[in-house]
This record gives sequence, structure tokens and C-alpha cells, in this order.
Amino acid sequence: MSVSIAKEIIERELAQFHPTKEDDTIVFEYFGGEPLMRFDLIEEVSEFFWKTKQNKKYRFKVTTNGTLLDERKQAWFALHKDKISITLSIDGIEDEQIRNRGRAVSQDVLDFVQNTWSDSHFKSTMSRETLPNFADNIIRMTECGYRVAATIGVGIPWSDNDALIYKRELTKLAEYYLQHPDCYMIPLFRSIYAGILSVEDNASMVPPPNCGIMRNMVTYDVDGEAYPCHMFLPFVNGKTDYKKIAEIDFSDADRLVSDDCKQCNLLPVCRTCYGFNYNHRGDVSLRDKSFCAMLLAEVQVISAFQINYLVRKSENQCLTDEELLTLKDATLCYQRYSDFSFK
Ligand code: SF4
Repeated sequence: MSVSIAKEIIERELAQFHPTKEDDTIVFEYFGGEPLMRFDLIEEVSEFFWKTKQNKKYRFKVTTNGTLLDERKQAWFALHKDKISITLSIDGIEDEQIRNRGRAVSQDVLDFVQNTWSDSHFKSTMSRETLPNFADNIIRMTECGYRVAATIGVGIPWSDNDALIYKRELTKLAEYYLQHPDCYMIPLFRSIYAGILSVEDNASMVPPPNCGIMRNMVTYDVDGEAYPCHMFLPFVNGKTDYKKIAEIDFSDADRLVSDDCKQCNLLPVCRTCYGFNYNHRGDVSLRDKSFCAMLLAEVQVISAFQINYLVRKSENQCLTDEELLTLKDATLCYQRYSDFSFK
């Protein structure tokens, strides 16, 4: 992408952004490939905007694997740490990272990101190879003081046996969190059911997506063309049917949920990636059925965990309104799915 296209996009998005009480900041994320390959652009575009007067709140983010984060770049990020932050993609401290990505992130980079943005988190994706160590991996990173947002890889053909392993690993992690209630929990354990079980009618509901795709997100390709998310970019899916993508109505349940999924009890908690559905199965409504058993494992373990965790917490202190709502949703979820089976 050229610097002028990047500046135009930011100017346009800032002009169109209408802050609300809940959503008062617009976030610009440099995303790859590996965005630090264009550190020159990041530097020039960001500094240009920091020098201009803006009456709206905005901030910049970079998601990187950290391999190009050398001393010079670290010095620049440290200087501007209040205006731009880094999310590090790291699948484990060493072994898991090498297994998934072929190369470990240096300790120097881990320490730099951790020390510069103490509230930042590392983004971890579990593959079939790293799944058997899912819990140990997260616990190891947690005990090193890192905050991790871990999820299961999308687009992997998961088997029923993988679901059993996933359930075992989630149970181990749940036990660890119950023994260490003050440690940072991966987001998966904190909020996945909030509010969604109030929907009774499967056929008319649009289940919540994994990301901001239906709400407040747009991704720009290098030529400045806008797409719903990076998964729809031609260089990701090899397609150039921009018009077809632009016509997808992400607020229409009929368009987003296939007829068989509308009959499924798990639909209200079924997270999906519409980009993967489109790329792998040709339509945003065609969900990955190899993930169903993984999802069920997640729902069963995490709803039980949330009940245990919050009931124990309530013995020593009052729960917040949000926690009470989570407890209610987790209880409904547990009642509905603890004995549920696809067979
Ligand atoms: S769990 Fe499987 S069958 Fe059920 S809604 Fe999700 S993808 Fe469809």
C-alpha cells in the first residue's frame, strides 16, 4: 500500500466516525502478512496523523509476529507507546511457537512488548500439533507474567478425538484458574455466553461473530478497496468477486445461517468465522462442521467453570452486575448443554 492511500483511508474513516459513549475511539490496525515489513509506511503515516489536530479519539495498533522488531523499531515504538501498541502473535514461549510458526520469538522481543504495554496481550492460536499441550502452554505463559488471548485455529479439520483432547485441556486449565483465581484468564473463559442465551428463537437469530465484522470493522487492501475483513481480501482467498462480497448482508439471519444449523441447539453459542466459511465452503452461511464437537467441549467446560468460579467468589465478596449476568447465562448454558451430545 502506498503512503498516500493509507493517509486517504485514515482521513476518510476519521471523518465518517461518529463517537458514542460506548465506542468513543477509532482504532487503526496495521495488519499483514507481516506489517513490520512496511515499517517505513507505519512510521510516516502514524507520525503524519500525530502531528495533525484531530477532535476525535483515535489510536494505532500493529499485529506482528515480532521477528522484525529490532532495536531501532523498538526505540520508535517505545517513544510513541501512548499512541500505538503492538499485539504479538505468539503460540507459545518456544516449542509451540516453533511447531506452529517455524521460529521462536526472542526473549528480548517478549520482554519489550510486555514491559512497554503492561496491559497488552499475546495472541495465541492452537493447532492440532499444539492442542495436546494447550493447558500447559497457557499456564507456562501465565506464570511468566504474560497475558494471553488463546483460541483454537479456524479452518483446521478437527476430529472427535481432538474434541476429547480439547475438553481434557480445558478442564485442566479450568482447575488451574480455580486454584489461582487472581491470575489473568484467557478471554475464552471470561465472557463467551454473556447475553446470548436470552434469544429463544433460533431461526431468526444471527449468532454473534468472532470479531467486529457485522458491527464496526472494515479492512482495506493495498489498492484501497474495502472488504468486510482480511479473510475476504483477494490475496487471502484467491477470488476477485468484490461485487459479490459487497452484496452480502451481514445483518440477515437467513443469509448467515444454513437451514441445518437453524435446527441445531448449539446455534445460540456457535461462534463462526464468516470469512473462512466463504473461502473454504463458498458461502458465509456454511459453517465448519468439524468444529461442532470442539464447540460443545468448550461450552460444557467453560459454563461449569464460570458457575464454580463465580459461586466461590460470591462467598467472599459481592458480585458485580456483569458477573451476576455471566453467572445467569452460564447456568442456563450448563442446564442446556451439559448432557447434550451430537450422537
Ligand atoms: S454447532 Fe455445528 S451444527 Fe450447530 S450451529 Fe454450529 S456449525 Fe451448525
